[in-house]
Amino acid sequence: MARTLPKTSSTVDAVMDDMRAMQTRDGNYRASRTWGLIYNAGPEVDAVLHAAADLTLKENALNPFVFPSLKDMQRDVVSIAADLFHGGEEAGGAMTSGGTESIFMAVKTARDKARAERGVKRGKLVIPRTSHPAFIKAAHLLDIDWVHVPLREDLRTYAEDMAPLLDDETVLAVGGAPNYPFGMIDPITEMAALAMERNIPFHVDACLGGFMLPWVERLGIELPLWDFRVPGVTSISADLHKYGFAIKGASVVMHKPKTNMRYQVFQFGDWPGGIYGTQAFQGTKPAPPIAAAWAVLHLLGEEGYVKLAGQTMEAVQRLIAGVNAMPDVHVWGEPNMSVVAIGSRVHDILAVGDALNAKGWHFDRQEGPASIHLMASPTHAAIVDEFLSDLREALDNHAGASTKAATYGDDVSKLA
Ligand SMILES: *Cc1c(COP(=O)(O)O)cnc(C)c1O
Repeated sequence: MARTLPKTSSTVDAVMDDMRAMQTRDGNYRASRTWGLIYNAGPEVDAVLHAAADLTLKENALNPFVFPSLKDMQRDVVSIAADLFHGGEEAGGAMTSGGTESIFMAVKTARDKARAERGVKRGKLVIPRTSHPAFIKAAHLLDIDWVHVPLREDLRTYAEDMAPLLDDETVLAVGGAPNYPFGMIDPITEMAALAMERNIPFHVDACLGGFMLPWVERLGIELPLWDFRVPGVTSISADLHKYGFAIKGASVVMHKPKTNMRYQVFQFGDWPGGIYGTQAFQGTKPAPPIAAAWAVLHLLGEEGYVKLAGQTMEAVQRLIAGVNAMPDVHVWGEPNMSVVAIGSRVHDILAVGDALNAKGWHFDRQEGPASIHLMASPTHAAIVDEFLSDLREALDNHAGASTKAATYGDDVSKLA
């Protein structure tokens, strides 16, 4: 029977016990068994996240006049991002609830700018095939068209393949730093130059890399430029709730020049409630993600992030070396940071994934090419060897074919 509201009240202990019982089937992220969805940075970071969230649990960032501390924290986080992405004083932006909202706001800003300044009627988005589905969702919701830049066999997106798709209707061109499927940075310099020549804004989706690539660069690992140092880059999305190690619900969308924010904000006053303004999509806005993001940035500082990135990259290098040492699996493409897609020319890699799932590992699965998708956090350093030995065992003992589809988010097939 479907659940209804209990007739009688309960106790805190009983409610918590029930929830803990429900959690027993959840992925064991505390033991680093999840290669995605969770970004663990250790006990000290966890402590500051809990403390910051608790401190601000009931506050509401919708009204900064009542809670000026939340205004200050958001201003600081945005300013830190502007500096980190080399946008300086020219860059500005807003905190959002996550990558999807940051991307939505970047597309909305570009659409409204093109309509206001270039007389574009409808608008079109030009995105690599490896771009996150959040761009397609934004195009749907904002009622504009979109087109994919094809992916070549080497799993790279080429600027020259994007060039013919840029036209008068294009409101925004996009590149990833890195892209989600293969962890590779697109040729941002070349792509943004093409967009700039045509007066088209260029967005870098650094939801994954925004709070990781700056540290990877400081570690001396060679990377192509991807941020506001690249001429033509006009906006960047970067998730604090991924490699920033904040709690879920924290991201930034950054614009250069920051005056483009005028196309992002919303303001309305013609109702009895007074002037209603928002910088991004949310109305009532939870304070804990803002506070936890501010807290972890200040707890770790550059020193802490570089150290954690070093741990992560060491784990990734060990993972890749371990995979490359096995003749029947390989890494797809050439990942620039801590995202690794593992494929096989011998085995059904998704069936191998099933065998790994049976051992308690969680990861996403991809098709085209088929792969299991791993995103490493600092705490994975402790379990890489165990994973590699489980992978070897799964390769040697797995069923013929997988019955599970490649999935990323929620299963909505029964509703669609
Ligand atoms: C995670 C991610 C997104 C979407 O962000 P959410 O926080 O899940 O909404 C977009 N782009 C990339 C590259 C991502 O990794």
